[in-house]
Amino acid sequence: MAEESGDTDTDGDGELEARLADQETFDPPESFVEQANVADDGIYEEFEENWPDCWERAANLLSWDQEYETVLEDDDAPFYKWFTGGELNASANCLDRHVEDGAKNRAAIKWEGELGETRTYTYGDLLNEVEEFAAALRDLGVEEDDVVTLYMPMIPELPIAMLACARIGAPHSVVFAGFSADALATRMNAADSEYLVTCDGYYRRGDALNHKEKADKGLRGVDHEVTSVVVDRLGDELNHFLGNSAHDYDELIEEHAGASVEPVSRDAEDMLFLMYTSGTTGQPKGVKHTTGGYLSYAAWTSHAVLDVKPEDTYWCAADIGWITGHSYIVYGPLALGTTSMMYEGTPDYPERDRLWELVEKNGVDIFYTAPTAIRAFMKWGSQYPEEHDLSSLRLLGTVGEPINPRAWKWYYTHIGGENCPIVDTWWQTETGGMMITTLPGVGTMKPGSAGPPLPGIDARIVDTSGEQIEAGDAGYLTVQNPWPGMLRTLYQNDERFLAEYWQEYSDEESDEWVYFPEDGAKIDDDGYITILGRVDDVINVSGHRLGTMEIESAIVGVEGVAEAAVVGGSHEVKGQAVYTYVILEEGQGDSESMRERIVEGVEDAIGPIARPEEVVFTPELPKTRSGKIMRRLLEDLASGEELGNTSTLRNPEIVDEIAARISDSD
Ligand code: ATP
Ligand code: MG
Repeated sequence: MAEESGDTDTDGDGELEARLADQETFDPPESFVEQANVADDGIYEEFEENWPDCWERAANLLSWDQEYETVLEDDDAPFYKWFTGGELNASANCLDRHVEDGAKNRAAIKWEGELGETRTYTYGDLLNEVEEFAAALRDLGVEEDDVVTLYMPMIPELPIAMLACARIGAPHSVVFAGFSADALATRMNAADSEYLVTCDGYYRRGDALNHKEKADKGLRGVDHEVTSVVVDRLGDELNHFLGNSAHDYDELIEEHAGASVEPVSRDAEDMLFLMYTSGTTGQPKGVKHTTGGYLSYAAWTSHAVLDVKPEDTYWCAADIGWITGHSYIVYGPLALGTTSMMYEGTPDYPERDRLWELVEKNGVDIFYTAPTAIRAFMKWGSQYPEEHDLSSLRLLGTVGEPINPRAWKWYYTHIGGENCPIVDTWWQTETGGMMITTLPGVGTMKPGSAGPPLPGIDARIVDTSGEQIEAGDAGYLTVQNPWPGMLRTLYQNDERFLAEYWQEYSDEESDEWVYFPEDGAKIDDDGYITILGRVDDVINVSGHRLGTMEIESAIVGVEGVAEAAVVGGSHEVKGQAVYTYVILEEGQGDSESMRERIVEGVEDAIGPIARPEEVVFTPELPKTRSGKIMRRLLEDLASGEELGNTSTLRNPEIVDEIAARISDSD
């Protein structure tokens, strides 16, 4: 990668930056409010008063083959059921009804490959190919309720396969393409999945990656027979050879050209898909999502929070291999009949302005990404977005981890042109959709705080005994009533479902069920929630409990710092001490004065108790393939312990480098 020089954060508009730096709250622009899908703050009260019937607003965004009888059934809590008696098909909701409503020629998916080739599927095209592939899957033997594993990168055949599965009532289990062969095998075995759809390869930074080889290796670890289909993404670039029992996607489509497949009416509570969580911690969990509740919730949050309208070009720059891509590239946006963008490659190929070039070229209205990406853009500098006209943007969003105020303000200024609200959306694989965020047409934004719980969501911050805590104090995030998008169980493991999420704060005797997402949080006087990170990311220094995210936010607030990770390492006297790993912006030397400014920054923001024991400068942090920092490795390094499993890391080589830097500074 080319070296950039100079201070990348003040680029001629230092005055503006200085003003924004002091500003704590931001209101959505009038022009946004005027056109917002939800602009009336009465919605919070409306949902509270009519709960759970308020959720009919979500269900009404869909077309049902059979109207539901009951909104919520809670007899067997926490195994809740939503919209019972109702029947629907997800692919019909994402495709057929739009085609019938006259949107046949509207773009449904606009795809761009890394090398620049483009493909546009109208709603009509997408429906045709989904029907053809659905017919092919049936011919291969796929029956209703069979789990089909999809191991594919960001190519249009992935959403096509998802919708084809949904059409015939076969739940899909998407395994992120960056995952290893072992990860594929584990997930296929866990789900007893006898069908695999994969591809020959894909492009990353201009290189053709051989994906098929990895898929084949994974298949050798599967303990039952598998029928597989291979998509030819690379043409001649890689030898597109098929294994013994593999079928060629293009041939199947040709054989089933023009096929029509009636969408199967699924019970609202039938499984739509299975999604294994990224596994930042422990064994992967097979999260089960349903057809009626999940799809209503994905559509509702896309409507209310992302403000999606059919005429928009909407871009969630996540990977479909994560829940974010399921809910906010595929199901939510397509259920609303909008144009959803997909990009195959990396944001810095061939240049660091690739995403902004795509925004300009496609006139993107709504852009949704992760804080880790925003911090990378910030590190690269604002000259890249400045090369492009980003004025088509109306709304920005973030998800995945807390966004520190400095990155928030950079996003607001340099991408949003100070004219787009930002929704900082807290949610999880398990919640199916967004839970805590401002409504962009209603709420004041506070950088660093996700916002209030969405209408109808009863999120509260409690102490260890489950008592609600005072505004300002740190505690544990809980959700005290169910919602339609919630996971129904962990696949074939009800016991673990209860133990993971419901044991901590529920009172089984009195049938009071409290969902525990395992995140720490605090709340302010306005009811805004700031997420502090996973509960196991709390450091206990001499009896004081410190949130790692809060310290990280203080560090990245220091001029010249691009990214930071904070963990607790064992300390003889204090029990635990604060260890910080810091990436500097390009051109910034890791001098002693930098170290001092970081220590001061933490002391000023949190107090001397949080004073870092050690500041380690590093060019990268160990990250999972979903871009999350793997803190337990950094903890092992800080405590000088033997390192745990590094197999899910994207950059395992960095671990040795950090270890060397720690021993250097001793
Ligand atoms: P695993 O559960 O397998 O360890 P994971 O929790 O990283 O993996 P996800 O479901 O993708 O898998 O991530 C959800 C978590 O991400 C949340 O519990 C929270 O810790 C964090 N998160 C998501 N969005 C936000 C946000 N806007 N602000 C703060 N944290 C967030
Ligand atoms: Mg999690």
